[in-house]
Amino acid sequence: MTKVFLRKKIAQRIANGHPWIFANEVDRIVPAGPDITPGDIVDVFYHDEKYCGRGYINPKSQIIVRLLTRKKEDINEGFFLKRIQEAWGYRQHIGYTENCRLIFGEADEMPALVIDKFNDYFVLQTLAYGMDAWKPAIVKALQQVFKPKGIYERNDVPVRELEGLAQHKGFLSEPFDTSIIISENGLKFHVDIENGQKTGYFLDQQDNRRAIQHIVKGADVLGAFTYTGTFEIHAAHYGAKSVLGLDISENAVAQATRNAELNGLGHICKFEAVNAFDVLKTWVKDGRQYDVVMLDPPAFTKSRENIQKAITGYKEINLRGMKLIKNGGFLVTSSCTNLVQPELFLQTIEMAAKDARKKIRQVVFNAQASDHPIVWGLENTNYLKFLIVEVRDK
Ligand code: SAH
Repeated sequence: MTKVFLRKKIAQRIANGHPWIFANEVDRIVPAGPDITPGDIVDVFYHDEKYCGRGYINPKSQIIVRLLTRKKEDINEGFFLKRIQEAWGYRQHIGYTENCRLIFGEADEMPALVIDKFNDYFVLQTLAYGMDAWKPAIVKALQQVFKPKGIYERNDVPVRELEGLAQHKGFLSEPFDTSIIISENGLKFHVDIENGQKTGYFLDQQDNRRAIQHIVKGADVLGAFTYTGTFEIHAAHYGAKSVLGLDISENAVAQATRNAELNGLGHICKFEAVNAFDVLKTWVKDGRQYDVVMLDPPAFTKSRENIQKAITGYKEINLRGMKLIKNGGFLVTSSCTNLVQPELFLQTIEMAAKDARKKIRQVVFNAQASDHPIVWGLENTNYLKFLIVEVRDK
C-alpha cells in the first residue's frame, strides 16, 4: 500500500482528529511517482513514522488525502456496511425514526459522503474522488440495512469538479417516482428528489421549525427565503393568523403553495416569487408591520475571502427584517454558512439591531438538528445558526 509521510510541522488539526490532509502538509509519498491512482487507499504516517491513519488519496485535489480511519482496518465493502450501521444506530438512539441525515460526512467519519434518508428513500452525494469510487459498496450497504424503495444520487454539485469528477444525477436503484411526500412534526411535505435544492429537502432545520410554535400564535407572519415553505407552513399549523412567504424562485413558490394545500393551510399561507432584498427594503419604506419575521437565506459565501461581504448581507437583511417587526414581536433568523461562526453571527445581529434602533432579547439559539452532529474539533460541522429574538423599540 502506498505510504504518505507528513511534514514535521503539521497542523494540530490532524493530530486532533481532523480527517483532511492538504497537499502542502505532505513530506513524501512512497513509492513516489506519477502513477498514484486517484481514489487509492493509502496509509498515512507522521514524520517520525508513527501511524496516523488510512484514507483515500487524490493527487488532483488540494485535499490530497481524506482519512477514513485511525485504525489499521481493511477498507472494503464490510467497512462501509459497518459505518452505515453505526450511523443509523446513532440516529435511532437519539430518536430518529423516519427522516434524517444518515451520513453527515466528516462527522460520521465518512468524509465527502452525504446520505439523507427520507423514510424509505435515500439520496446520496459523493463529493470526493475516493468516496465516489465506493458508491457501489455504499448502495449495497443501504440495500442490506434498509431494503429501500429507492436510492438516488444528487451529484450535480460543482464542488465535485475540484476533484476531477463530473456533475451527475440519477437512479442508483430501480427507477422510482422521485416526487415523494415526507412527514415532519405532524405535517406533510412534497420532496422533489430529482430537481429540488441540494438533496431535495433541508432536514437540518427540523427541530428549529418546532421552536417557533409559541411565538406565532395569532400572529401575522412574514417569511423570506421560504423554499418549499416549511417554516411558513409550520407557522400556520401552530396558529398564525396570516403567513406570507417570499422566495426568488418561481419553482419554490409553486412547491410551497402545493405544500400549504397538502396540509389544508392554503387559506392562511400565501407565497410570492420576489427578491427578498428588494421587497423588504420597499416594505420598510411603506411602513408595513408584522408580529413575526422569519429569515432563512442561502449561504452568502462559500469562500473565506468573501466573509465580509456575507456579513454585510446578513446584517442588511436582518436590519430590514427587524424594522418590519411590531414592538414586542419576534425575529426568527438563520445562517447556514460554516464560515460565519456562531459568535460572529450573533455580533452581526447585534449590529443590525443597533442600526435599526431596536432592543433584542434572546429566546432561542440553536444549531442544526442532531442528526447532523457537531464534532468538537471539526469546526466545519458546526454550521447552522438559528436564532429567535424578541424585538423592542429603543
Ligand atoms: N427555509 C427553507 C430553506 C431556504 S433555502 C427550508 O427550511 O427548507 C434558501 C432559499 O432562498 C432558496 O429557496 C432560494 O431560492 C432563496 N433565495 C435566494 N436568494 C433570494 C432572494 N434574493 N430573495 C428571495 N429568495 C431568495
